[in-house]
Amino acid sequence: MRRLKTFDPIKRRTVQQYHSDHAFPPDAKCGGCKQRRPIARALLLAPLDEAVKRGMIAVNTPPAMLATITVKIKDGSTDKSFIRVSTAYACETCLPTMERTLAKAPSWCIAEIHRGPNPTNAVSVALKS
Ligand SMILES: [Zn+2]
Repeated sequence: MRRLKTFDPIKRRTVQQYHSDHAFPPDAKCGGCKQRRPIARALLLAPLDEAVKRGMIAVNTPPAMLATITVKIKDGSTDKSFIRVSTAYACETCLPTMERTLAKAPSWCIAEIHRGPNPTNAVSVALKS
C-alpha cells in the first residue's frame, strides 16, 4: 500500500476534483462567479404546510403534481414533506459567500449543503506490485 497525493493517478485528480467532476450535472457552473466548476451544492427546502400557508403553492394543487416536487425528511419520529425552493452551486472561492447567504434564509426553511469529501482526510490507494 502506498499513499499518493493524487487519488486518480491517470488523470492526476485529487478526491475533491474527482467529486467535482462526477457529483454534479456536466453543465453545472458556480452561481457566484459563473465560471468555475462547483465543489458544493446547496438545496433550500421549505416545509409543505408553510409553503401553502405563504402562497408559494396553490392550495388546490393536485396530489400527483405535489408528489413530484416534495421531499420527505424525517423530523423526529414523523416524516415531514418539504418542497425544493432552489438549488445553487458554488466553487471553492464562492462557497463562503453561499454559506453566508444561506444563513440569511428564513428560519422556517432548511438548507442542505452537499460539500463532498473532506479535504483533510487521508486517501490511500492500493497499487499492484
Ligand atoms: Zn465561484
